[in-house]
Amino acid sequence: MKLLKCLLTENDCFQEGRTIKPSGVMVHSTGANNPALRRYVQPLASTPGREELLAALGVNRNGNHWNRPGLNACVHGFVGRLADGSVAAVQTLPWNCRGWHAGTGTGGSANNTHISFEICEDGLTDPAYFRRAYGTAVELTAMLCREYGLDPLADGVVICHQDGFRRGIASNHGDVYNWFPRFGMNMDDFRADVVRTMDGEEEDDMVYYKNLDDVPEYYREAVSKAVAKGALNGTGSGELNVSEDLCRMLTVLDRMGQLG
Ligand SMILES: [Zn+2]
Repeated sequence: MKLLKCLLTENDCFQEGRTIKPSGVMVHSTGANNPALRRYVQPLASTPGREELLAALGVNRNGNHWNRPGLNACVHGFVGRLADGSVAAVQTLPWNCRGWHAGTGTGGSANNTHISFEICEDGLTDPAYFRRAYGTAVELTAMLCREYGLDPLADGVVICHQDGFRRGIASNHGDVYNWFPRFGMNMDDFRADVVRTMDGEEEDDMVYYKNLDDVPEYYREAVSKAVAKGALNGTGSGELNVSEDLCRMLTVLDRMGQLG
């Protein structure tokens, strides 16, 4: 997932500056046929990395983006197309900022509890765009669940706007059920895909090598040097149990001449 950051600092929601303790993620889709991120997201003169962001997002010449006052709506992120047509995510509020995305239901508002993002809709008939936008939304949700220790399968944690309405914590909107079912998906599929992504990441993070012989050859010299220097002692039972991350770091240090 490509994740940019372009905070909507001139939006009244950002200016209000209230914070939440996130306990869920609410997925929205825009309800308008415009998959371009630049429709909603634009940097200002004060935005860090403005030139790079403009190059990546493209320029909104209509002045209708959300980085301005008077809108009464703001989300923590968007998923949509960059100027080059690829699909990416952009963070538009600090994740723990109180967003203005859910409105109010009969029992309160998910604005007080949920991180939110919009998936930019296209004409809702392009399977290739749907696949990429859906996949990016899954990855973004997985990242947020991980960051905030959220269980995506727990009741009410990962929901869409319409789920929120049914639960009494959002206004009466149809998103994302106006779109996902056209491609055979619903929010149960989405939650399951978030779990799969999180599980995959965990496995990726958990590569360990028991002994020097298990360490891939391209790391082995650096790891051997660290062992020889007594910098790496293993677990005490004769096993090294060294992670791939550490192997990589030692290899960098070795290339820098730090391991002799
Ligand atoms: Zn919505």
